[in-house]
Amino acid sequence: PSLHKQRHEFVINFVKENKPQKVVDLGCCECQLLKKLKFHRQMRLLVGVDINGAQVKKHMHGLAPLPSDYLQPREDELRVELYQGSVTQKDARLRGFDLVTSIELIEHLRLSGLSCFSEVVFGYMTPLTVIISTPNSEFNSLLPGLKGFRHRDHKFEWTRAEFKSWALKVCQDYGYTVEFTGVGAAPPGQQENIGFCSQIGVFHPSQVDFNRKFLSLTCLWFNYFFLLFYQL
Ligand code: SAM
Repeated sequence: PSLHKQRHEFVINFVKENKPQKVVDLGCCECQLLKKLKFHRQMRLLVGVDINGAQVKKHMHGLAPLPSDYLQPREDELRVELYQGSVTQKDARLRGFDLVTSIELIEHLRLSGLSCFSEVVFGYMTPLTVIISTPNSEFNSLLPGLKGFRHRDHKFEWTRAEFKSWALKVCQDYGYTVEFTGVGAAPPGQQENIGFCSQIGVFHPSQVDFNRKFLSLTCLWFNYFFLLFYQL
């Protein structure tokens, strides 16, 4: 499959495994990812945001309910919302989601916009998971005929080390942890030196882990005392 498809497949696999119910796709472009996500029956709220409202409008029709949706209605309805707006600006409608995806978006932002993006996504929207994909510039030497960036609107393309240092700083500033992966493997023997064609960071709040551990420990103590008193 094309690299574009592989990036979406990565998100779909995450969704299959983790079953998020509220998802925002930032830079949703032609709504292709949203059109795939709407078939996951646990989904309750799907939101797309893009600065280019005309483009979204042109492609949004595939998000409307299908006849089969009426024949086999869901127990809980799925809402789909599309907004024209910039990921550099806070929007109260985008807070408290299970998953935020940002697929090949950040490289379209200037560095000032990128720091607003970090503040908006990790400091304000505070989702339970963020998936960010961006080109890995180390792979560019393998792309035939490429001079400069992969797209003329890209403001930067990062090496793995550059992406890692940005991601770790974001984690430090906003209390998240990150795991790195990617799609589009390099030819055999070159993976280690070059990495994936698209690099991906999967972020989770570190606080949640702490809270969960704290809660389960409290429950354990509570049960312990309950049993103790019950026996007395
Ligand atoms: N996510 C899409 C996908 O997986 O098919 C592709 C993203 S496309 C390469 C980049 C998108 O980001 C474009 O649709 C562009 O309009 C949008 N974009 C660029 N700057 C933006 C901003 N500041 N806020 C929201 N969207 C933005």
